Amino acid sequence: MNVKTSFAVSFRCNFAPQKSNHFIVKNQIDEILLKDIFTKDDLIALLEANESDRKKIFALSSEIKEKYVGKKVYFRGLIELSNICSKNCYYCGIRKGNRSVDRYMVGEKEVLEAAQFALDNGYGSMVLQSGERSDRKFVNEITDLLKKIKDLSDGKLGITLSMGEQSEDVYKEWFEAGAHRYLIRIETSNRELYYKIHPHDSKHDYETRINALHTLRNIGYNVGTGVMIGLPFQTVADLADDLLFFKDLDIDMCGMGPYIEHEDTPLYAFRHLLLSKKDRFRLSLKMVAILRIMMKDINIAATTAMQAIDKLGREKALKVGANIIMPNLTPVQYREGYLLYEDKPCIDEEAEQCKTCLEARIHLAGDEIGFGEWGDSKHFEKRNNEI
Ligand code: SAH
Ligand code: SF4
Repeated sequence: MNVKTSFAVSFRCNFAPQKSNHFIVKNQIDEILLKDIFTKDDLIALLEANESDRKKIFALSSEIKEKYVGKKVYFRGLIELSNICSKNCYYCGIRKGNRSVDRYMVGEKEVLEAAQFALDNGYGSMVLQSGERSDRKFVNEITDLLKKIKDLSDGKLGITLSMGEQSEDVYKEWFEAGAHRYLIRIETSNRELYYKIHPHDSKHDYETRINALHTLRNIGYNVGTGVMIGLPFQTVADLADDLLFFKDLDIDMCGMGPYIEHEDTPLYAFRHLLLSKKDRFRLSLKMVAILRIMMKDINIAATTAMQAIDKLGREKALKVGANIIMPNLTPVQYREGYLLYEDKPCIDEEAEQCKTCLEARIHLAGDEIGFGEWGDSKHFEKRNNEI
């Protein structure tokens, strides 16, 4: 074979399969998107979809969002109530073992002022989030706060809690005091991976975390969970399993976003294993879009961690399927204390500034704001009406 022929052959060999592959992948994604139920392999293919196929996924998820949950985005004014935490999750900047954090608890007066701000500005709901504590003093403080927020707003403000694992009695006490939604991320549905990102002890028990979700559902909460995307050791197959886990659990709400490293945490040592931040963000957008296609009428949050990587991250999440935003109402002096990960955005913006910037961003994304409405998950309402 002379050089010329050999080049021609190798050229054909390299080129031809790529071209046909391209068409196979395209058709495969089209076919998957026509299905009612996705298999794990379908989900892996969707999560690995290339740029042009990604657009098809996003076009469908955005159409489904408009059809099933509408164009309204609901606000949940977020109070990062306290960074005091009894746990030692390997990824989290406010873990108990991080001695460089000054611990705080926002005062009752400040929380009630934030609640008043939320009410005056037509936010339908608040989220109270905090490090995990289960001592009686803390439980009582939360119960009191819930009652006071309900009194102050004549029951108008809906309240979501995100306070980690608690006993059934405590969940009941808080439900009776006025909380009606609860977020507790499973972080990853892969048990083995769970123990790579948490200590393997009774305080960080995978089964306890899953049981919490069932207990909350039985009490009557709208139940939300979620995962971190792009964790060290995590595979695309794990993320496919996470999506199947959400579906299987029939969740009402989801909040998920990219894992972002924090230098004062043990997982920081594995940062060389991470995808680039941009890729973690891209994968997170795909997770939001695919979940919207799978669970058409649940509430999905455009999370702050998405904005930490891409300035327009939350707007992009809204475009592909999210319908909830949590503007930060934590008094500014505490925000430096709640750094779960590096480069957390909006740490120096007052609530008023946050609000103006968000409203503009939501309109930019082509959505409207559901002022003064709770905006509960339609999925929850539907399930309860069926019972
Ligand atoms: N203590 C409660 C709620 C506060 S933490 C709980 O753990 O449930 C809220 C969420 O922050 C966690 O569920 C976790 O998913 C997220 N988080 C913590 N560290 C993070 C990191 N480094 N990158 C991205 N998200 C993180
Ligand atoms: Fe505490 Fe939650 Fe952070 Fe874990 S993720 S260390 S429970 S605040």
